[in-house]
Amino acid sequence: MSILVLGGAGYIGSHTVCALCEAGYDVAVVDNLVTGHRASLRPQARFYEGDIGDAAFLRQVFLKEKVEAVIHFAAFSQVGESVKKPLAYYENNLVKTRTMLEEMVKAGIKHIVFSSTAAVYGEPKEVPITEDAPTQPENPYGETKLAMERMFHWTAQAEGITYVSLRYFNACGAHAEGKIGEDHDPETHLIPLVLEAASGKREKISIFGTDYPTKDGTCIRDYIHVSDLAQAHILAVKYLLGGGKSEVFNLGNGTGFSVREIVEAAREVTGRPILAQEAERRAGDPAVLIASSQKAKEILGWEPKYTKIQEMIQTAWVWHQHHPHGFDGR
Ligand code: UDP
Repeated sequence: MSILVLGGAGYIGSHTVCALCEAGYDVAVVDNLVTGHRASLRPQARFYEGDIGDAAFLRQVFLKEKVEAVIHFAAFSQVGESVKKPLAYYENNLVKTRTMLEEMVKAGIKHIVFSSTAAVYGEPKEVPITEDAPTQPENPYGETKLAMERMFHWTAQAEGITYVSLRYFNACGAHAEGKIGEDHDPETHLIPLVLEAASGKREKISIFGTDYPTKDGTCIRDYIHVSDLAQAHILAVKYLLGGGKSEVFNLGNGTGFSVREIVEAAREVTGRPILAQEAERRAGDPAVLIASSQKAKEILGWEPKYTKIQEMIQTAWVWHQHHPHGFDGR
């Protein structure tokens, strides 16, 4: 029996594939390589290149593999892009997932763990945010993830499957060995951009908004190491295979860092001056997102290993120094 990872060549997907292989699971990966990287694939994991919106392709994969559980990462994930291209996000994140879910049900696969996001909450009324907080997404990315969650909720009830939705806060860092890491094109996330400024690949970074109602006027986020996220997926699969009921879990550290604090921590880790220029707010950004992950700790037994922001940035810095142009040598 295998674990099928959809989007297993992407950032969080590839780290989860790595963790699954390290834990001795039999793993298969599906990825269309639109944003994922062939070079991030593990030789132990069987690879099927294709799109989760392609029902015939998925049917073939489900015929070849005896899938015990699916882990689904195959989605677009950029807030700013989603505001500019909402229909692309509805198509890729919701419509294709609907096709995949239908094929999964037809194939008799009963369990799925999938990526959701803190962006489903919108501007929270209280922090830390618990899973029962109101969901009012402020951008199409969060909106499509919430719609996915609701689709899984109703389908699970109707079809007798169980799911876990993992609402990530800000994923960061890289595998401790430095062989895989974060590589988006274009890169939009704060920590990799700050490290590009540290290495001289870019001249400076912009701080998007300095008039938020926070201690230093910049947005506050809860950063969580990608390898800790990977472990949460393994725990969620075990939970479902052990008969656990469908659940939603937040995954974060419970500590918030402002954009200015991240730049400062990166200066400390790299020992390099990093030029940061104040700029306008970016559309769709809530001021503060901090997770309560109490539920994941209690029910899944999850405990993040990386709690210091400097350690998380350090792993990303090692990756960046060894792969200044990412996987494909761009
Ligand atoms: N940010 C920034 N400059 C950048 C990229 C991001 O000031 O060049 C800010 C962004 O506005 C947000 C925070 O950094 O408040 C984290 O953004 P990121 O895109 O990394 O993750 P998100 O919170 O959108 O998932």
